[in-house]
Order: sequence, then structure tokens, then C-alpha cells
Amino acid sequence: MSQKLTNFDMVIFGATGDLAMRKLLPCLYQAHAAGLLNAEGRILGVSRSNLDTEGFLKKVESDSKIHVKQNFSEALWDSFVKRIQYLKVDVTDKSDFDRLAERVKARQNTENVIIYLSTAPTFFAQACENLADVGLNGDNVRIVLEKPLGTDLKSSQEINTDVAQYFKESQVYRIDHYLGKESLQNLIPLRFGNVFFEPVWNKQFVKSVQITIAEQLGVEERGEFYDATGALRDMVQNHIIQMLCFTAMERPQSLAGDDVRDEKMKVLKALKPLTSADVDANVIRAQYTASDSQAGYLQEHNVPADSRTETYVAIKAEIDNERWAGVPFYLRTGKRMAGKTAEIVLNFRENPQGLFPNTPNRLVISLQPNETVSARVFMKEPGNGMNVVATEMSIDLAKAIEGRRAEAYELLLREVIDGRVNLFNRRDELEAAWEWVMPIMENWAQSSTPPHGYAASSWGPEAARELLAKDGNAWLEDQQ
Ligand code: NAP
Repeated sequence: MSQKLTNFDMVIFGATGDLAMRKLLPCLYQAHAAGLLNAEGRILGVSRSNLDTEGFLKKVESDSKIHVKQNFSEALWDSFVKRIQYLKVDVTDKSDFDRLAERVKARQNTENVIIYLSTAPTFFAQACENLADVGLNGDNVRIVLEKPLGTDLKSSQEINTDVAQYFKESQVYRIDHYLGKESLQNLIPLRFGNVFFEPVWNKQFVKSVQITIAEQLGVEERGEFYDATGALRDMVQNHIIQMLCFTAMERPQSLAGDDVRDEKMKVLKALKPLTSADVDANVIRAQYTASDSQAGYLQEHNVPADSRTETYVAIKAEIDNERWAGVPFYLRTGKRMAGKTAEIVLNFRENPQGLFPNTPNRLVISLQPNETVSARVFMKEPGNGMNVVATEMSIDLAKAIEGRRAEAYELLLREVIDGRVNLFNRRDELEAAWEWVMPIMENWAQSSTPPHGYAASSWGPEAARELLAKDGNAWLEDQQ
């Protein structure tokens, strides 16, 4: 049965930029190629460059097409680019917005206008004001805000307050591309659609939870950006906290409207605030150091030799609610680590009766490199007696479920077009996440203790191992 596809006008600010060329346009192409865009849907690229549509399409041809990695056909590409137009709009030039409004309003169908701000957040306030001045902030308009939304609680609040002067919260879509990952969303049916997971998903059965995002790459050519950012802002405040919310939240009343976001917000409210003493005891910051073949962080291009910016952070967090009180949530992320992975690990408690000692079950939900759900289950070893051995029950989602798996950005773009808000950060969520990480940033800013070191391509500093060992726990790679 064919589904009615929502018509749309998508205005992409920053259309000549890296994100638009590498992700937004290729992902819109994928949706187009899969027949998931309304035939009338149009894309209007805007940026400062003085180009016409023809000039812009030449750039798209040279800079964006190469990023279409699958489902490519010249015919589909040709029909895709017919959707695209370009207009020069400088965010700082009010008169450009009159022409923008004319262009958008000249369309027959303007009931679903999407403005995607893929520019530096310093432009957001002015863009919103100028859009409102020309009437492009009515109920038919949704506005998409790219990350990073601020560098701390205060700057995030300022951006949100600026945007809120012109757009209602229900019109605002804040991007965290982790929310577009199928395997993260899959936590909802995994937990609430299978009767045997939910009853054990709590402090009675779970001893600890680990959430890891590890990258093998170092800072590459982005030393300047990274040094001003660090792992806490780059990964923890957004992606890791979202993974934590999906892991810990209660069953939402429904999957529509704001119900999922309401449940995530309750987790954020229950996250135990960190005092400065907690940060000293339970937060590890570290930088990678040189190995035989790889430079250390302080030797990277554009990184000051005395930088204290963390390339690794590990945190012991606690959620103060009925379900999780007393269960440590160990969060960590790092660059130049031994593997590339994003995963959630539930370590279950020991079997309460003594027939089979030392047989703790474990569930590993992997978001990357592969999307898998694996349980460690103990089974009888062949032979006499009743010895048991650890085995793995594993589901590789890509093999188990047929069908095209869309990239996160494609899924999110389709959600915006359809006006579904659940996979976007609400203002209170974003600010609660900032509020929780602020004591860490404040402690580090005042601390005279330098970051720990960890060898490039290792699993992180010894101090992070000790953080778990003092609770009788171990990171996944150190477990049996
Ligand atoms: P970029 O390559 O530097 O592109 C910036 C874009 O902003 C260009 O299209 C530029 O237009 C436009 N621009 C600059 N000043 C403008 C003005 N006064 N008026 C109108 N347009 C203006 O940046 P990017 O990598 O695409 O990133 C865009 C935003 O997304 C940033 O906030 C970034 O942090 C965020 N982000 C990027 C990525 C990524 O993978 N690149 C991932 C996540 C988030 P001209 O070229 O015409 O000057």
C-alpha cells in the first residue's frame, strides 16, 4: 500500500558547507532514491556565496555526489537534483531575507516549510530574527538546529532563548544524530516489546551498566576545534547521555508526540548531581600519549603543548530512582582507543542460588561497528557432570532484519519532514544534560591536577580501570 508522503520545502542554510555536501544532500538523495520523498518536495540551498542555481549544482556535482555511497544511479541523481535550487542569503543581510521569503512564498505549496540551520550557532539568533521579520516563522515552519548548541549551560540557554523569541518549542528540531541511529531506537522495542527483558532491567538484576563510545582516530586535522571542545562536550553531554536515557527510561505512555522525551527527561532529572568531591573521585580525564607509530595528543597539529583538553573521559554516574538506585552507570568515551565502538553493556548480578557460581549474564547492545544484541548465556559443557561454559546468543540486526538501513541523518530528515519530534532534543532535555556536566567542567577549570595519560591505541588510562575495580567491576574488555 503506498503511503502518502508529506510535501515540503526545505531551506538549507550553510548549503555550500561540509555538512550539507557530505551528509544532508546525500541523505536526501537516499530518501529520494528509495521513493520516500513527496514528488513535489523541494530543496532550496542558501549560503553567503554568490552563486546561481546552476553554479550551486556544479558544486553539488563535484562535492556532494561523491558522498553517495550506495543506491546510486545517474537517472535517480538527475531527478533528485531537479528538486534543488539555490539563493544567496547572507544571514547578516536583512534584505536577502525578503528575496528568500518571496522565493518560498511563490510556491503553490507552502504548508510545510523546513529551515535547516547548518551554520555556526553564532548565526542562529540573527537568522531567526531575520526569518521572523519576513514572516518565515509561522506555524507552517519548522526550524532545525545543528549541534553544537552551546559550549556550556549558559551559552546553550542563550541560544535557546534567542530562538524561542521567534519560534515556539514545538517548531524547533535540535539535532543529535545518535538519535537517528536505528540501533539506539531499537532499545525501545527490545525493552518494551519483549516480555523477558523488562522484568530484569532494574537494580534487582543489573549490577552495573557501561556505556562506551570509542574512536580509533585521533584528532586528525581538527586539533584547533578539538582543543576548544574536548571529549566531555563533544560526546558525553549529547550522545552518551542520550544512550543513557534510552537505556534507563521507563516505558513511555505512547510512541507519539512528546511521550518518549518526557520519559528521557525524567531520567535526566534523576541523574544524581555531581559535587566537586564526586568529580575528584568518580570522573577520570585523560589524554592519549605517543606510541611507537602514533603521535600523542600534545604533539598533534594545532594543539598547544600545555593543553589540558581531555581526549578521554570516564564517569561513574548514578540514577536516583526506584529502578536504578545503587546501580553504577559507567560512561566513557575517547579518541585513539584500541577499537571503534559504541555500545551499552548490562552486567547482571550473580545467580542468587549457588548451583552455578561465577556465571553472571551480560547483555551487550552494540551500535557500531555492527548493530548487534548479544547475551552471554551459560550452557552445559558436553561430558559427564554439570560443568557450564559461557556461550553467546547474538542477533546481528542487519542480517536478521531485511531492508535498507538508512543513515541517521536520512532518518532524521524524514522525521522533520513528517513533523515527528521524538528523535530531537527538547530544550529542557538539552539544558538538563548541560546542567549535569557543568560541575565536571567547573572542577576541571579550577583543578591543578593534569589529565592522566593513556597510550595511543589502548583502552584508556589505568585510573579508569581502577574506577571500576574499587566497586568490584571491570570494563568489558577486561571481563572474562
Ligand atoms: P562549513 O563547512 O564551515 O560551512 C559553513 C556554511 O555556513 C557555509 O555554507 C557558509 O557559506 C555558511 N555561512 C557562513 N557565514 C554565513 C553567513 N553570514 N550567511 C549565510 N551563510 C553563511 O561548516 P559545516 O562543517 O558545514 O558545519 C555547519 C554547522 O554544522 C557547524 O555549526 C558545525 O559545527 C555543525 N556540524 C558539522 C558537522 C560536519 O560533519 N561538518 C557535523 C555536525 C555538526 P559560504 O560557503 O557561502 O560562505
